[in-house]
Amino acid sequence: MPGKNLTRDEARQRADSLDVRAYTVELDLTGDGPTFRSTTVVGFAAHSSAGPVFLDLIAPEVIELTLNGRNLDPATHFDGVRINLPEVAPDNTLRVVANCAYMNTGEGLHRFIDPVDKGTYLYTQFEVADARRVFACFDQPDLKATFQLTVLAPHDWAVFSNAITPEPRPVSGRVDAAAWAFEATPPVSTYITALVAGAYHVQRDVYRRGEVEIPMAVACRASLAEHLDAAEIFDVTKRGFDFFLELFAQPYPFTKYDQLFVPEYNAGAMENAGCVTILEDYVFRSKVTDATYERRAETILHELAHMWFGDLVTMRWWDDLWLNESFATYVSVLAQAESTVDERLDHVRERGEDLGLPSGPVAVHPPDRGRHQGSGRRRGELRRDHLRQGRLGAQAAGGLGGPGQLLRGDPALLHPTRMGEHHAGRPARLPRGDLRSRPE
Ligand SMILES: [Zn+2]
Repeated sequence: MPGKNLTRDEARQRADSLDVRAYTVELDLTGDGPTFRSTTVVGFAAHSSAGPVFLDLIAPEVIELTLNGRNLDPATHFDGVRINLPEVAPDNTLRVVANCAYMNTGEGLHRFIDPVDKGTYLYTQFEVADARRVFACFDQPDLKATFQLTVLAPHDWAVFSNAITPEPRPVSGRVDAAAWAFEATPPVSTYITALVAGAYHVQRDVYRRGEVEIPMAVACRASLAEHLDAAEIFDVTKRGFDFFLELFAQPYPFTKYDQLFVPEYNAGAMENAGCVTILEDYVFRSKVTDATYERRAETILHELAHMWFGDLVTMRWWDDLWLNESFATYVSVLAQAESTVDERLDHVRERGEDLGLPSGPVAVHPPDRGRHQGSGRRRGELRRDHLRQGRLGAQAAGGLGGPGQLLRGDPALLHPTRMGEHHAGRPARLPRGDLRSRPE
């Protein structure tokens, strides 16, 4: 028996014996104490072979456990990490009321108080296996279910989750609070469900392509609002949508696309379904290099690629995370090279012969805002690096038969849960250090 962590064998056994249908989760974030109230109703079917079943939940306290209308004693069924159900029926409804802990480690529901203006900022980070710090669940990637979230929070907050933010409703008897009842998601893994809430500064746009309309938002804490270059972020995102909708030939799987820049973030970014969180360092507070803009664009495109490959199609277990990540990086670089060309640099390509460079795509470049301060010579060198990247991407695509063939040659590859069947080696360990090396 391991400590807190689920093993792969346990996850396989659970996936073989259960079908999880739906989570309905209500979180009360109106208090400023160390915990928040979490109420989960989960519906699941158990096969006849299922023995004892357990759910994952890390919480200081479980207040109520009700299985199929029958109360269970939390003292005997909850050990701080798991909810143990010795007997289950073919069809089950479990209700769990718990007090869960706000975190300051970037795992579960992180709470940050801005020292500038005392604004409160919350966001979730659930990969790997930290959804269980916020709601009772089967916290493994291959047990997908619909996720319907209701949030009680101060009425003047901005609240984001995996579905379009609804109009908040008043809460009777609580003048300072409001309730946001989100639509249910399609079936998703627990690790890509998300909540971002607080005094966030928000800017909005819409991606349009034919009949398709995808509402988008970017947000950061209010004290950084003046530095948020939303137009550039939306521009890269729209180019990414153009590219990936064409490449994958699959509709965007969710109803909107929000990108939230969050404080005290451990990773580079996280591909929560339609609700991407991104390292706040990517809101640039002073001039940065072209290379840093490019890294941010790659991160934006990497997370967008995950909406299809990772979120729609998902690995069975974490030992296939390498494929999830390497594919997202591969197609994000491809998108950079092929669809985020800065047209105003065409003259550089035209001068390619002068510089001894091949013609071809130039990797990403957000619109110039006075950042090209270097000499012509230095710009030429930068372009040479980009062209080298583009050639490497093209070679990789050729080796795999090209991205279109890679995907369309096997349509089943884009079927949920199939990804875990594609093994091809082990991932290299990620170095730590700069922005680029952070997990995305
Ligand atoms: Zn990633």
